Amino acid sequence: MNLLITDHCNRSCPYCFAKSNKLNVKSYKGNIAKKMVSLETVDWYLDFLENSNHKVFRILGGEPTLHPQLPHIVERALNRDFKIIIFTNGLWPEQIRDFFDKNTDGRVAFVFNINEPFQQQKWENERQKDCLKIAGNRAMIGFNIFQEQFNLLFCKELINGFSLKREIRLGLANPVVRENNVFLSNDSLKQTGRRLCHQLRDLEADDILGVFDCGFPLCMFDESDLGSLGITTTKGFTSICQVIIDVDADLNAWPCFPLSKFLNVNLRNFKSIQEIFSYYSEKLAPLRSIGSMDECITCKFKRRGQCASGCLGRTIRSIEANGDPRLIEKLY
Ligand code: SF4
Ligand code: SF4
Repeated sequence: MNLLITDHCNRSCPYCFAKSNKLNVKSYKGNIAKKMVSLETVDWYLDFLENSNHKVFRILGGEPTLHPQLPHIVERALNRDFKIIIFTNGLWPEQIRDFFDKNTDGRVAFVFNINEPFQQQKWENERQKDCLKIAGNRAMIGFNIFQEQFNLLFCKELINGFSLKREIRLGLANPVVRENNVFLSNDSLKQTGRRLCHQLRDLEADDILGVFDCGFPLCMFDESDLGSLGITTTKGFTSICQVIIDVDADLNAWPCFPLSKFLNVNLRNFKSIQEIFSYYSEKLAPLRSIGSMDECITCKFKRRGQCASGCLGRTIRSIEANGDPRLIEKLY
């Protein structure tokens, strides 16, 4: 479960899962009202995690380092002995650079979502390097694949240069239902899978492994690549679709960004993580049985439980485009 401590962001990535009306992407430079979680809400949320026997506090945004009270939020959680993971774009303001330079508590880890250098401005590349240097081995790079012609080998230089974790968290850009984010079409998946396996072999030769996020369908990879993918070049591959649950500054929750337009609830109406997970599992079960592609219907990997059949965002997008445009209203 993730707490989105602000909806404020100072970057605008084309694939952004958060580019919905939930978040004020680029509000940093504009005058759009922005949400910032209060310290009281953080305390309530930490109680909620603790009551669920969950001692990992995952912090997201927007860009969480734009929350002026992030240092207090981190200290509050550390005082209660939480482990913290901060998902960041690495464009930290000076105050945050100073804070994490001085506070080197090993219970705080970072995932830096980084785009290829040519897709970013010069100041962004330089600022990320400054921040990666501060984070060092507390940081892992996260890379979102949103176009066929990607190249993640630039990560080597950053990992070696700043002694980062020797792992790359791999995300696949999936459609946000009823939004216009950039994502890979189903037709591009096989080519993307081949390219990814090729680059993972190159990274593995340098002792760098891939870590898969949710939503990768098994059939995007050639069967001949699955051995290396599952064992040698990654920390293990499974095709999963397991809701993460995002919670905003007002404790409104949704299953994950691709599904952020429906099944919105307030976390205060639940007693534990387990209860809200069960709620979403039950609600999403009818969609899960469908699959994101026509081929899923007869697929042996789906029948045998080896593939989660892709992201539910793809499933809904496909049904709404080719069948019933009011699927969600009818189901929920
Ligand atoms: S629908 Fe499933 S695969 Fe897609 S983002 Fe959500 S949890 Fe991940
Ligand atoms: S279940 Fe669907 S997505 Fe998964 S491998 Fe089969 S056809 Fe591909």
